[in-house]
Amino acid sequence: MNEEERRELADLLLPNITTTRDEIEARYPARKLKEGAKVTRFAPSPTGFMHIGNLESAFLDYIFAIQSDGYFYVRLEDTDQERYVEKADQLIQETLVNYGIMPNEGAFSSGEYGPYVQSKRQEIYQIYIKDLLIHGLAYPCFMSKEELQEIREGQELRKEAIGVYGHYAVDRDLSLEEIKKHLSQGDSYVIRIKSPGDMNKQVILHDLIKGDITLPENIIDEVIMKKDGLPTYHFAHVIDDHLMHTTVVIRGDEWIPSYPKHLQLCQILGFKTSKYAHYAPLTKKENGNVRKLSKRKDPEFSVSYYDEAGIPVEAVKLFLATIINTNFEEWYLQNSDKSYLDFPFSFKKMPTGGTLFDTEKLNNICRTYFSRLKAEEIYDDGLKFYQKYDEEFYQIMLANKEKVICFLDIERNGKRPRKDIATYKDIKKECSYIFSDLFYQDETSVREKEVDFDLLNQYMEVYSDSDSQDEWYQKIQLLASNHSYAKSVKEYKNTPDVYKGHIGDICEALRYVVTGKTQTPNLYDILKILGKDEIKKRINFYQK
Ligand code: GLU
Repeated sequence: MNEEERRELADLLLPNITTTRDEIEARYPARKLKEGAKVTRFAPSPTGFMHIGNLESAFLDYIFAIQSDGYFYVRLEDTDQERYVEKADQLIQETLVNYGIMPNEGAFSSGEYGPYVQSKRQEIYQIYIKDLLIHGLAYPCFMSKEELQEIREGQELRKEAIGVYGHYAVDRDLSLEEIKKHLSQGDSYVIRIKSPGDMNKQVILHDLIKGDITLPENIIDEVIMKKDGLPTYHFAHVIDDHLMHTTVVIRGDEWIPSYPKHLQLCQILGFKTSKYAHYAPLTKKENGNVRKLSKRKDPEFSVSYYDEAGIPVEAVKLFLATIINTNFEEWYLQNSDKSYLDFPFSFKKMPTGGTLFDTEKLNNICRTYFSRLKAEEIYDDGLKFYQKYDEEFYQIMLANKEKVICFLDIERNGKRPRKDIATYKDIKKECSYIFSDLFYQDETSVREKEVDFDLLNQYMEVYSDSDSQDEWYQKIQLLASNHSYAKSVKEYKNTPDVYKGHIGDICEALRYVVTGKTQTPNLYDILKILGKDEIKKRINFYQK
């Protein structure tokens, strides 16, 4: 086809496209960026599900943009209409808001490089497609599903590369007349790129995380526009990242094999390529094998799991930070007064292979996170959790603000703050006994321990709510010596035969009777919260 024919073809296929490539480029001028500033994008497909990998992706985009004084934007990649799920974009937006991963621009706000939803950019893609047709770099392909299937089967049998390329690309050199004939018959078509690739050549991906990766050059005439007129992901994202001036594409490493296609598209289109950072998936060990986290098998794969489990969004982010850079955890433990954004994240320190999803680590991070909060903060955040998930306890918390805060404040402000709370659910689990209603209804109140009730009853005679901690302790010591208990563990250990037990045993029995637990924060404070009448009531209740 000569130039005139190519223009005729382009007009025939895309008659409504009148804007030129130069005109569209002028609408997306280069960004004014500081030295080293990164422009990143979170580009989810609205499929109705947000998984932890999506969240990690958005978090990475956010961190690297913010730490370099750059831009982070959100782009919805909804060109696959079959996978589109109603309101999926809302879920993505809510998740980002909830996690405080706020983009500078994009699909949920505004910005000068939009629209940020691919289905609204059809004209833009077609402008580039028309330009490619005019330059003889792309062509309409009328091959049917059956023909493609036949080619594929033959290629599989002969162990050849799968796809439309070389002599399989039968429509590559159709004449204008032949194309017109197809069109007059109403034959449907896709547009393919004319790949100049050579299967004996290789390309190198300079990945920011994984280093240099050598891959075979692309030889396939990839589809760039589907039958419905929408572009493929491969084509659309290359155009968008170019126009939106993305400097680093951060995405899952399942995209690495597609890189040669993307590089080739950039080269054909004359674009400067962005840098790429492909991160490894989260994995799990199962029967000695390592596998990717899965939607079907692992509840923690879904972002909604963390909310339901009462894991605070900040703790999830801290956990992701430990996955992103393995040296983060140590830094976090040493820097109790800093935000994770003060940590110098780097692509180079990201794991290159799969990262184990370590539930124990998540749990520890959560405990440390809670241990650094003020009692009031835990109360406020916990209240929101219970409002959503447990109406009964929500009402209890609401009516007993001071009491709950008082409980949460025990052993919180010293050098080694308590770490009994890992989730919002633990607030109820740890403090339910301070509420009579919950204490008596709890099955653990049917207990089996041997308790010296004479001792506890006598203790109640001297116990006073107004005692200081020292006075309280002295009274227990006195009680111990009056009943042949050692006043200290050391004393007991020296001559165990002389004693029934030691002071710790008395405290343990008391704790057990009034709380139903073997471990609680400081007993003195718990007793104060309960008050003498309630303590007596519990001893009596238990004695029966
Ligand atoms: N829309 C693609 C996905 O959801 C994004 C890949 C990319 O970030 O380039 O997997």
